[in-house]
Amino acid sequence: MFSKISFKLKLIFSFFFVVIISFGIVAFFLDRNLERNALVEIESSLINQARLVENQITKEKLKNRDFVFLEELVKKLSLAISCRITIIDNKGNVLADSGVTEAAIAKMENHLARPEIWLALTGGTGIETRYSQTLKKDMLYVALPIRDEKEITGALRLALPLDNVEKVLSTLRKTVLAGVIFALALCLLLSFIIVRSIANPVNKIILASRKISKGDFTHRIIQESKDEIGELADTLNKMSEDLEHKIGEIKNKNQQLEAVLNSMIEGVIVVDKAGRLVSINHSIENIFEITRQEIKGKEFLEVVRNNELFEIMNRVMARGEFVSSEIMLVWPVRKTFKVNATPIFNRERVSGCLIVIHDITEIRRLETVRSDFVANVSHELKTPLTSIKGFIETLLEGALDDKNNNRHFLEIIRDHTERLNNLVNDLLELSQIENREIELKISEVDFKGLCDKVLSGFKVAIGKREIKIENSLADSLLIRADKDKIEQVFTNLIDNAIKFNKEKGLIKIYSEEINENIKIVIEDSGIGIPTKDILRVFERFYRVDKARSRELGGTGLGLSIVKHIVELHGGTAGVESHEGLGSKFFFILPK
Ligand code: ADP
Repeated sequence: MFSKISFKLKLIFSFFFVVIISFGIVAFFLDRNLERNALVEIESSLINQARLVENQITKEKLKNRDFVFLEELVKKLSLAISCRITIIDNKGNVLADSGVTEAAIAKMENHLARPEIWLALTGGTGIETRYSQTLKKDMLYVALPIRDEKEITGALRLALPLDNVEKVLSTLRKTVLAGVIFALALCLLLSFIIVRSIANPVNKIILASRKISKGDFTHRIIQESKDEIGELADTLNKMSEDLEHKIGEIKNKNQQLEAVLNSMIEGVIVVDKAGRLVSINHSIENIFEITRQEIKGKEFLEVVRNNELFEIMNRVMARGEFVSSEIMLVWPVRKTFKVNATPIFNRERVSGCLIVIHDITEIRRLETVRSDFVANVSHELKTPLTSIKGFIETLLEGALDDKNNNRHFLEIIRDHTERLNNLVNDLLELSQIENREIELKISEVDFKGLCDKVLSGFKVAIGKREIKIENSLADSLLIRADKDKIEQVFTNLIDNAIKFNKEKGLIKIYSEEINENIKIVIEDSGIGIPTKDILRVFERFYRVDKARSRELGGTGLGLSIVKHIVELHGGTAGVESHEGLGSKFFFILPK
């Protein structure tokens, strides 16, 4: 309960408690002392007054029992000193009493039994507080002996009603109480002021620490005092400044790290020791089609749906060892990844795992392309070489003298050698272009003129198959390009358009303008290309009908060379075709 009360209230209570206890003790002792002192004071003044009164009593009159004189004397003096005065003879009989009429005195009982009277008659000073039967109230009695020479002739008693004494005491008490209340009020006011001056800086510190705990490090406590609280405020300010600085540094580093992570081509996944995802980078978002927001606190497999990767992570966590492996991703895309997974240690215990995955699909594809290429080249070379070897052996074995056939055999050998030569030339050309070893000799090229030149080279073939040519390229079509290379492009495309055309077919050559580019189209009315092959005809050695292409003297490299030359010019090459309806080969170049 007390622990819930505010610091300010606690301080006020403590102050109040201490003040009340101290004042209580002071008031208690003061009150007791005052009462005693006042009583002693009243008693001694009563004794003094009694002595004075005793002097007034003429011993003669007492001896003679002059009641009238004594009566008059006590009445007079009683009025003067506001006390009841009684004179008693040495036998205890009352001679005069200021509080009783003369007639009643005779009826008063003997006073010898009263302790104060008895003390006085034996020579002492009697002091007694008692209820007076005569006056019906509490009285303070002081009695003295009346001496005539050495002899005690009677006793004089002064009586004061105690309510008189009480009155004096209560006045005194009231004064003390008023003083105490005033002092208490003053103390309370002062304690309020003091507590406020103590609690305010503390409250400021509390406010500042709350802000710090909420992550606001910009707040500073303004505290001018140089005491402990001032020192605490300074320390807190310094701490907040340091924290602001450190957190700024950490934020900066985090941002840098995040920038590095996100600019990485490799995908990065961090998981905690429970196998929950902690962070992923941009590449992972792309590969697994997830977002960073949805991974928070989720299980690995909930987000990254790949068992192989999950197993690698489990192996790393279980053994605390680096694992490198290759995985195939089927969903969302078919890809091959190299996976490197490292355990993250915290005080020599595995506290998580860092997985870096690297897309090696292209590397693997290139490897396949390369090995396919070697196989293809070997195969392409082998066929003509086997034929050449076969015919040379036939000639050597006697056919050389066979006048009817030897020339025919040599012509076959020449054709195969021609094919080998073409193949080697195309391969060289292709390898040069692919390795970017050749430098384009750019000049303004008249495309129509160049096309006509190529067409004239195919005059015989065109005439033989009665193919109709329509060259609608404009005379003004001048494009900056490498003339020899573009000639090669035209040669390859027109060669195909003739080779794969029908008898009496048509070849149309025209251009279209597309934005800043120019599209050159070589359209034929030939056999066309089946849809399944369309995307592959630009690959090296790819032929729809291998036997037919070979028969027609093709190497399967023509379109590949076209594609590379056009790309070297910053353009693209493509084809639209329907089987049996002809093909539209085109290339687009920037103007
Ligand atoms: P090739 O030396 O066999 O002509 P290319 O690379 O020039 O090699 O062509 C590849 C394949 O594309 C050809 O074998 C053929 O099947 C197909 N092709 C090329 N041009 C045409 C065309 N105009 N019409 C039909 N098919 C074509």
